Amino acid sequence: MTIKEILEKAKQQGRTALNEVESKDVLKTIGIPTTETRLATSKEEAVAFAKAIGFPVVLKIVSQDVLHKSDSGGVKLNITNEEGVSRAYDEILTSVKKAVPSAKIEGVSVQNMARSGLEVIIGLSKDPQFGPVLMFGIGGILVEIMKDVAFRIVPLTRRDAREMIREIKGYPLLEGYRGMEPANIPLLEEMLLKVSNFAEENPDVREMDLNPVYAYRDNALAVDARIILD
Ligand code: ADP
Ligand code: MG
Repeated sequence: MTIKEILEKAKQQGRTALNEVESKDVLKTIGIPTTETRLATSKEEAVAFAKAIGFPVVLKIVSQDVLHKSDSGGVKLNITNEEGVSRAYDEILTSVKKAVPSAKIEGVSVQNMARSGLEVIIGLSKDPQFGPVLMFGIGGILVEIMKDVAFRIVPLTRRDAREMIREIKGYPLLEGYRGMEPANIPLLEEMLLKVSNFAEENPDVREMDLNPVYAYRDNALAVDARIILD
């Protein structure tokens, strides 16, 4: 599906949020690497998708009423076999129904388990004055406690992308602090420019949240994604 088709389908169904599977389809289309992710609507389908993708896999709730999936027991990581998929599927539905009884559930996503890397976040939001604004920061605890993020107005220039990465306090982490795996910084710059282009070409995108993106020496991978429309 093209980006327009993905956005149109959500609108026709009266949704303003793309689910994780649709959001990751958009990422693939714009050239941002992400996990292989499929939407299962039965336990049997979840098992079949896990076998097709290859173990280990991750299962997650897909529901527009569940914003923080892990807080509601809606994320199961590192599942290594078919029986684990069946169990995780049931456990996710039970926990989410308990945490958010009114939640309308679309299904459960099945995705490959990514090796962990340095967590960064890429976000897009609309400022009433400046229009679309892009955010980059270090993910995890640092973003919650330190608010270690940088902002630039869309459309980003190459120089904006370079600068915003270098101005965060956590930049030494990206360079490979004390033997940690360094991040591929030019690739992260490319990703920021791709999100900026996407926002420019699709003005009805109101918000985008790639949290986390795992940054590796050679690559980077968005493991969670959410796109919201006007
Ligand atoms: P939410 O932010 O809604 O709680 P996430 O999809 O971000 O849910 O999942 C929670 C955490 O699980 C992530 O921050 C990440 O650490 C880990 N995670 C999620 N998806 C994957 C994946 N495909 N591979 C490896 N780790 C993952
Ligand atoms: Mg997340």
